[in-house]
Amino acid sequence: MEKKIEPILEYSRSSKARCRICKKPIAKGEIRLGIPYVFKKKNEEITAYGWYHLSCALEKQPETVLEALKNSQGLEKASIDKIRAELISKGIIQRDDIILKVNKISPAIERANIHVNISHVFPARPDLLIPEITVRPLYCYDDSGMIKVVLMNNWIKQISNVEIGDSLLIKKGKVFNPYDNIVEIRCDDETDIELLKL
Ligand SMILES: [Zn+2]
Repeated sequence: MEKKIEPILEYSRSSKARCRICKKPIAKGEIRLGIPYVFKKKNEEITAYGWYHLSCALEKQPETVLEALKNSQGLEKASIDKIRAELISKGIIQRDDIILKVNKISPAIERANIHVNISHVFPARPDLLIPEITVRPLYCYDDSGMIKVVLMNNWIKQISNVEIGDSLLIKKGKVFNPYDNIVEIRCDDETDIELLKL
């Protein structure tokens, strides 16, 4: 089976690698982007990484930085926030995109609370109170408090492997009914939401 190899972001483990853009060394501990490539040694396929300064990569290929941000682990929150801010300033992440850390996950399909949830999410659509409608609320925290993300039907599948601690990138989610500290976000389409493994 072919394993998908993704770009990564990490703290440089040594100061040996040179940036493929500016050719200067990358200091140990500095954040670096690694872009994988495969080469053949005898009959064996070997995966290696070409390394880039974060600043150089943000300048030349910010989309790859976002791709790596989705897959990388081990970066501190302060580092992730800084990279996000850079990606927002470059328009790679839209300003109204919402990134949320998952804090609590409801059972995959929550039927008991359907009416409650629907009434919050679609106050003007009582016709959606049909048995086929299933919801999966996720509870997340952002800087302003708790956020409830309500995912419905197909979108549940989209993030079926979501775990506590993962982050969600919500592209066009709409914020509904702010009440107390809880805000609900409705996603209109499965492409509105992406799971980020941070
Ligand atoms: Zn560089």
